[in-house]
Amino acid sequence: MSGGRRVAAVVGSGPAGLTAAILLAQRGWQVTVFEQHYRAGGCLHRFFRKGVGFDTGFHYVGSADAGQSFGQVLRHLGVADQVQLRPLDPDGFDILRFPDFEFRVPRGVDQWAARLCETFPNEAAGVARYVAIHRECIAAYGLYSLDASVPPEAILPWEERSLDSVLEACFDDPRIKAVIAGHGAPLYGVGPAEAPFGLHAVVTDHFLGGASSIVGGGDRLAQVLVARLVQLGGTVRLRCGVASIRTEGGVAAGLVLESGESVAAELVVAAIHPKAVLAMLPVGAVRPAYRERVESARSGMGHIGVYLEVEGDLSPLRAANLYRYASWSVDTAGDLPFWFLTAPGARGEDAGVVLGLFPTDCVSWAQWAGDLGKRPGGAPERPAEYEAEKQRLLALFVASVQAEFPDWTIRRAEASTPLTMAHYTRVPQGATYGHHHAIDQMGRYRLPVLTRVRGLVQVGQAVAMPGICGAMMSAYLGVGSIDGLGPLIEAVRSACREALPLGLDTLHPA
Ligand SMILES: Cc1cc2nc3c(=O)[nH]c(=O)nc-3n(C[C@H](O)[C@H](O)[C@H](O)COP(=O)(O)OP(=O)(O)OC[C@H]3O[C@@H](n4cnc5c(N)ncnc54)[C@H](O)[C@@H]3O)c2cc1C
Repeated sequence: MSGGRRVAAVVGSGPAGLTAAILLAQRGWQVTVFEQHYRAGGCLHRFFRKGVGFDTGFHYVGSADAGQSFGQVLRHLGVADQVQLRPLDPDGFDILRFPDFEFRVPRGVDQWAARLCETFPNEAAGVARYVAIHRECIAAYGLYSLDASVPPEAILPWEERSLDSVLEACFDDPRIKAVIAGHGAPLYGVGPAEAPFGLHAVVTDHFLGGASSIVGGGDRLAQVLVARLVQLGGTVRLRCGVASIRTEGGVAAGLVLESGESVAAELVVAAIHPKAVLAMLPVGAVRPAYRERVESARSGMGHIGVYLEVEGDLSPLRAANLYRYASWSVDTAGDLPFWFLTAPGARGEDAGVVLGLFPTDCVSWAQWAGDLGKRPGGAPERPAEYEAEKQRLLALFVASVQAEFPDWTIRRAEASTPLTMAHYTRVPQGATYGHHHAIDQMGRYRLPVLTRVRGLVQVGQAVAMPGICGAMMSAYLGVGSIDGLGPLIEAVRSACREALPLGLDTLHPA
């Protein structure tokens, strides 16, 4: 207790940690967030070169209107009026470019289905079937669909069924399968054979609900969440890496920081990967079977992040992102199976900034991991082979982008690798979305929010779904495990309904 308030310690200041901290502070807890980095936000981090900002793990969000899941979460946390959204083109917010055709993804499931039917008229019956399955699936996710009456186990069948199996059941044309699977794979890092249909449905529904960028990028969201926490009496301590979780009689009792400082807390919320949590617990705190399960959990896709400064006409990317696929076979293996491009610099911010990414195998980079170091300010030295591989891939990417946009002059190109990601966020192997959210690691095999250690709650993308919204929702699962999830869902559902200040910069007619 501190001044009569129960004390909670949160490890990690990504969207999951900050959301959990606000939810607890709203319930009267005295909350401190401990973050190893020098700035709060986790993947929402933005770095600067000569005053120009580059987002690292944020490009766009979906479903931010009143009544929609992410919008309601922002309202419930009390930050909606602080987050300025810039809507992307409702007639085509994502451009999916295949070697021989292009599909522009419109806002709204009905509009999306209509465009699929226009593009693939022979598949109209399959589209209707697919949309019916999609809607049934979404309704099973009570937290996402904000329906407190849905039992948590309703999601299980949807996470046991692969995306591929649904596509096979609905369609013949490989191009329509590529359009649907190709939109999902980069957003959650799993190919269609392994992707749980529930994961695909929720993540794509989120963006189909209306895609927007955030003015000020992910960093703005992080700073707004920090300010809200402080307003509620909470604290964020930066450069405070957590070394271990203290337990007494099998109950969480606080933390020990890397500085050696000991912190008492009745509740510990670990908003980091469960593997890292395991390493912080005393041996014997959890059952051997749980230890084995977490230790053997596979990490997901890695990525090369690309940060460009471009001179030229960025208008094609003013209100849309571009996904470029090498073929119809949606895969995350190989040198450049697909790439993603978004241009904050075309949206009135940070002139010339274009961000890209493409997948890479985290494991192949581990050979150069060496001592990752724990000083975010000073990146560790890497061998020449590491630098050469990074530059080789960067050159391939730049050439491919230049082929799409021959009029651009690329003034600057910098890249990050899975080792960069691991260094700055400590996510195991620097995997883009941490956990590999595949069928055999979701559903009944999901990593749990609660362990045998009472007073310890795990949140973050690994125990829920990837993405800002997925990570924030994981915090509701975590805090809901203490006080009951149903009332929390009701509270989100009924959070104030006034409209967000959308469209402050109207990029296109509504
Ligand atoms: C390149 C990229 C692009 C993305 N684009 C989007 C997008 O456009 N839209 C979207 O919705 N999602 C996007 N995502 C996904 C999204 O960023 C993540 O799903 C989300 O940030 C995960 O949140 P989290 O809180 O679970 O973890 P993180 O954001 O990883 O936060 C974990 C935090 O814990 C801290 N930490 C770790 N260990 C310790 C320790 N021992 N002590 C103290 N602190 C510690 C880390 O420093 C970090 O701050 C993207 C991700 C990447 C990598």
